[in-house]
Amino acid sequence: MDGRQRVDGDGATAASAVVTTMAMNCKPVPTLDDRINDIRMRTAEIVNDDILPNERRLMSVAREGESWSAHTEMLELRAEIKMKVKRTGLWAPHLPTEYGGMGLDFLTHAYMNEVLSYAMGAASLFGVVAPNSGNQSILVKYGTEEQKKQWLMPLIDGTMESGFSMTEPHNAGSDPRSLDTAAVLDGDHWVINGHKWFTSNGVDADFFIVMCRVVEAGATNRKVGPMVQIIVPAASKGVNIVRGIGVWGRSDSDHCEVKYENVSVPVANTLGQVGEGHQAAQDRLGAGRIYHCMNSVGQMWRAFDLMVERARAREVHGGLLQDKQFVQGFIADSYIDIQAARLMTIHAAEKIDQGLEAARTDISAIKVFVPGAYTRVVDRAIQVWGAAGISNDLPLAEMYTGARTLRIADGPDEVHKILIAKNVLGQFASGESWDFGN
Ligand SMILES: Cc1cc2nc3c(=O)[nH]c(=O)nc-3n(C[C@H](O)[C@H](O)[C@H](O)COP(=O)(O)OP(=O)(O)OC[C@H]3O[C@@H](n4cnc5c(N)ncnc54)[C@H](O)[C@@H]3O)c2cc1C
Repeated sequence: MDGRQRVDGDGATAASAVVTTMAMNCKPVPTLDDRINDIRMRTAEIVNDDILPNERRLMSVAREGESWSAHTEMLELRAEIKMKVKRTGLWAPHLPTEYGGMGLDFLTHAYMNEVLSYAMGAASLFGVVAPNSGNQSILVKYGTEEQKKQWLMPLIDGTMESGFSMTEPHNAGSDPRSLDTAAVLDGDHWVINGHKWFTSNGVDADFFIVMCRVVEAGATNRKVGPMVQIIVPAASKGVNIVRGIGVWGRSDSDHCEVKYENVSVPVANTLGQVGEGHQAAQDRLGAGRIYHCMNSVGQMWRAFDLMVERARAREVHGGLLQDKQFVQGFIADSYIDIQAARLMTIHAAEKIDQGLEAARTDISAIKVFVPGAYTRVVDRAIQVWGAAGISNDLPLAEMYTGARTLRIADGPDEVHKILIAKNVLGQFASGESWDFGN
């Protein structure tokens, strides 16, 4: 499969005609067991044969000026690939088998993610779409049987969409203890009042998992009280989507500002126990960070391939880019960044099998290192491609904004560095130095 040349099926313009894409070179890893290798190889086959040749067409959901027929064709192609993914047994790697998923452990899931993320947006064709996938995992873990029937199953079937509503504009998202969206008990209902933003997928969501604080009616200080997650149907009276927040120069996005104004929902919509809200959010983000980092590794791998491919072909000032030492430096630095990011992430995924607590320091370390490395690798690939690097003919521009965003979402760099230092210093204070071998 390696070495085959792919041309984007959409290659209509003069610029895109020069963009060929090599297939991902994914071979069995000798140290991995047969099952993981088999999953990786089958994933790579779909990525290489079905997704990469159609990448731009498949991801054209929001492309401006797209004709209706092109849009319909794209939806049909997506449905076809999803069917193939399901037939091949690669659907929903994050879900247990009883919910139609692959039932993978962390490590296997991580190894699969780096392959499926090689093509932009491919994860969604494998049934992994944030924030739905995170909400599914939380509903599997904390949901009652009734909640699973009402919210989880439609989310898995794709007949419902969801959002996760925690961050507030007037409070530091990096310090969730500051949140003050209030849930007041009124008989057998919660009455919710609060102001959230950056609730992703807010436009399409049929329900939100809203992080609240339980307070007494009329409480003046809403920053104390146990945290709780409550399922709020989007159609509830008082759920007001203010706007899709414009990001990266675009006029809007599906990251929504939402006001919850006297929203009344049954107490039966409580997800988990009152007081468990913060822990549930940590569960969600802890696991999610490993997946996100392995996705980033897959995308760095792709950016690296694009960069090397271009360096081998582009002539400047009487020679190929590959012969210029500046560019050789880019290749070497990117190789080092990717290897370091990948091995750190695999190490964290191995540790998470021993429990989230044991892996906490390593998860924070990858949450800082990997998005930084991803940003650097894509930045170099863009530089090598010149103007084409920032054009929509290549996935690099999208990767670049995505990589930069990752340094803020799911906890900004500084918060994770503080946690690493706290854990290290805590261990030294308890009389033990750090054991880098474990
Ligand atoms: C694309 C995108 C999608 C998102 N999706 C969701 C979603 O679906 N649901 C949701 O609830 N939220 C979502 N978020 C919000 C995200 O979780 C928050 O932006 C993040 O937690 C940071 O919070 P904040 O933006 O309020 O920054 P703040 O908490 O105000 O922090 C601002 C900056 O302060 C610095 N800082 C923070 N703490 C310290 C410290 N102790 N020392 C030194 N410096 C510090 C950091 O540099 C940080 O970037 C999303 C964000 C983005 C960008």
